[in-house]
Amino acid sequence: MRPYIPLVLVMLFLQCAQAAQPSATIPPAGQSVAEEGLPGHSPAPEIAVPATVDTEAAPASPSQPQAAETPTPSLAAPAAGESPPPDTNSSPTTNALASVTAKPPAELASQQPIALHPPGHFGGAPGLRDPASLLQPEPPAVPAPLAPAMPLNLLQSQVAPGTATRLAWSPEDSFSGIASATPVLVVHGAKPGPRVCLAAAIHGDEVNGIEVVRHILYGIDPNLLSGSVIGVPIVNMQGFRRGSRYLSDRRDLNRYFPGHAKGSAAARLAASFFNEIVVHCNYLVDIHTGSLARTNLPQLRADLTKPSAVALAKSLGNIAVLHNKGAKGSLRRAALDRGIPAVTLEAGEPNTFQESAITQSVTSIEHLLNLLSMYTFSDLKPRRADAGFYRAQWVRATGGGMLFSRVNLGQEVKAGDLLGAVTDPITNQGFKVVAPRDGLIIGMALNQVIQPGFAIYHLGFPVSIQEAASSDAGPEDFGAEPAGEGEAY
Ligand SMILES: [Zn+2]
Repeated sequence: MRPYIPLVLVMLFLQCAQAAQPSATIPPAGQSVAEEGLPGHSPAPEIAVPATVDTEAAPASPSQPQAAETPTPSLAAPAAGESPPPDTNSSPTTNALASVTAKPPAELASQQPIALHPPGHFGGAPGLRDPASLLQPEPPAVPAPLAPAMPLNLLQSQVAPGTATRLAWSPEDSFSGIASATPVLVVHGAKPGPRVCLAAAIHGDEVNGIEVVRHILYGIDPNLLSGSVIGVPIVNMQGFRRGSRYLSDRRDLNRYFPGHAKGSAAARLAASFFNEIVVHCNYLVDIHTGSLARTNLPQLRADLTKPSAVALAKSLGNIAVLHNKGAKGSLRRAALDRGIPAVTLEAGEPNTFQESAITQSVTSIEHLLNLLSMYTFSDLKPRRADAGFYRAQWVRATGGGMLFSRVNLGQEVKAGDLLGAVTDPITNQGFKVVAPRDGLIIGMALNQVIQPGFAIYHLGFPVSIQEAASSDAGPEDFGAEPAGEGEAY
């Protein structure tokens, strides 16, 4: 009998060891487990939306060009654990750019010779921000034992969960000898979650967004990320190379979305970007600046008649929001029409980098990723002040001359306050520009020579969401003169 005693003990030990294992089994690869809820993965806070009828739909996959009419009442991580879009080509890429795979942000960031804004070291920003809210770091997130995310199939490549990589989008189907790829930065989280896309420099001279994308993408540890962040720093590479807003043929790319594969060069470029990247997004933030020697306080344009756009706008935190459906052919409008909540973030002026506008924009996007339960930024409170909804009017010059402003972006003014002075350099005649009413300077012209009727100051007035939605602020990215002619002073 003696030989059986150790064997029984071993069997008892194995049974106890088995009983100590978690009851849940690890699903086989390719099986989504998010439907049952993920431990420790709390949904984003519910966000109140107006009672208007939502005519939008859930984000569509490439195989579903016409999205179903499904309300999207909140930003409660709708895509958490979703199956990835259909894999059109799962073979590993042979593109040289895409070979820079599986590098964590720290390693990628180390390749940057200069880090203007090291992750986690954003200072208090002026304007609408509450600096005190940035000085109270939250405790770091405790990694929860979640199920791993699925690989992300994008641009004929497969990105493994928990990795950051650089892919290449090759939009130009011109003669292949000169075509060059456009970099696409991807951080694919170790845990499932939504997919947030950041687009910048659709107008090639609006460079602030390029730095915003760099900050966000290199500031995320993929092992702590739920979901994915896809950043395209320079969508309009043609314009960027020439320092121009436009494509090589002088077309405005942001008037050709969602594009057409058999259309003009701009339409084909737009179609490629839309179908290769945008349709894979659950949320889209398109980053712009003011144009033509004008600058903007960081602010959002959103279609406030669509609850999903309202919810997205509110999730970007303490920022001014103005209503506009988006110009026909704009990326924001095309994405929303496809059921992808989208907003435009306007920050600063073209052709230059402005740290204040960049910092405020980065903070807003960090706030969004935080609210979506995708990432916890150590320098950001999980819930800060809400967005402010505004109507806005332009103050125009009654005469021409040299403009010298006496106010700054983000400054609150009272009716009658001096905004600036305009002097005719030949006749020495001049006049003052005063505020027609109380308001916030959300946009303004830079000091320059102006003509009579020139739109100088964009005054914002805080209103309710419903009031804001009833007042169209005009497209954010006018190429010459701002819209809203009827509302201008
Ligand atoms: Zn723009």
